[in-house]
Amino acid sequence: MTFTIPDTCRELIAQLSAFLDGELDDTLCTKIEQHLAECPYCHTVADTVQTMLALYRHAQVTVPPQVHAHLLEILNREPNPQQDERVS
Ligand SMILES: [Zn+2]
Repeated sequence: MTFTIPDTCRELIAQLSAFLDGELDDTLCTKIEQHLAECPYCHTVADTVQTMLALYRHAQVTVPPQVHAHLLEILNREPNPQQDERVS
């Protein structure tokens, strides 16, 4: 079974943190909200990112931009169970 993340989802995920921070304009927000409502994958990713952001804020931890980018990169990565076992 293969699962490829569609380009629309990749674009959305790239904008997700700005969306959750309320930095996007209304038109874009509506577009993202609509997509999240109908795409289970993006819904899960948005949920995860939102939880992470809430945790960071709650703990008053400042996340360096490169860490944040890395987290998004992990979320954006093609699922590959074989590689997930390896920790470098
Ligand atoms: Zn999606």
